[in-house]
Amino acid sequence: MKQSLEEMTDPAGLKISSLVKSYGKKTAVDGLSFSVGKGDIFALLGPNGAGKTTTLKMISGLIIPDSGSVTLDGEPAGDQRQRIAYVPDEPTIFPNLSGREFLRYTGRLRGLDPERIKERTLLCSKVFEMDGWLDNRSGSYSHGMIQRVVLSGAFIARPDLYVIDEPLVGLDPPAAETFWRMVEAAAAEGAVIIISTHTLAIASLHCKRFGIIHNGSLLRSLSRGELSRGGLQDLFFEVTGTSPAEVSDFFRNH
Ligand code: ATP
Repeated sequence: MKQSLEEMTDPAGLKISSLVKSYGKKTAVDGLSFSVGKGDIFALLGPNGAGKTTTLKMISGLIIPDSGSVTLDGEPAGDQRQRIAYVPDEPTIFPNLSGREFLRYTGRLRGLDPERIKERTLLCSKVFEMDGWLDNRSGSYSHGMIQRVVLSGAFIARPDLYVIDEPLVGLDPPAAETFWRMVEAAAAEGAVIIISTHTLAIASLHCKRFGIIHNGSLLRSLSRGELSRGGLQDLFFEVTGTSPAEVSDFFRNH
């Protein structure tokens, strides 16, 4: 009770309230409410089609909700786009641009001065091991290379709110480790971080809070300390009713 009272009165961080979005007759997000505080790393989890991407796009202002609100530090998030970085689940870069040109362009859009962009690009190039190919045309990049560049764009911008959709697909283990270190550093500086992922075991190591959604509604919200021994995966199966035991039964019976 105490926590929900604090959530109601403390406007700091991200707060989404009664968010609804339908595509025709399909209600993708159905009255979703939760908040993510400054310095929090929040994992938005749910089965395929649960409404995660739609939610993240509404938070980022890329989709207008049918109703409900998204605020960052008490003000509409839509009016604060410069404070938000969104990384989509299928990141793309115009193929004629090199990774470095993309990062320069991203930094300029954020209003960063060229020296600052250079300095932060150098750091990202080192930690994400992009030195050997950052000046090549991105049309020649693998999925993981594009992912590293686009994630670097978010880290170079140093926003107050990171909205990251499924970052781990395509990243090799060292790049994934780097990603989490960068996220943890941003959180330590007070950024709000929301990440959607299906990689539950990794999410449970690095994220501080979790929200499990299904059919556009929040089924469970908890902190890492509240996870039981079965961990996030068992909880996910339990609350979404998607137990792998049912799959085994299906194969046995057919
Ligand atoms: P996944 O884990 O598979 O990426 P998700 O949780 O991100 O799924 P969404 O992409 O938000 O789910 O989709 C939620 C629901 O809305 C799904 O039923 C999907 O078919 C539907 N949907 C999403 N985008 C559109 C669209 N542009 N037009 C029509 N329906 C859509």
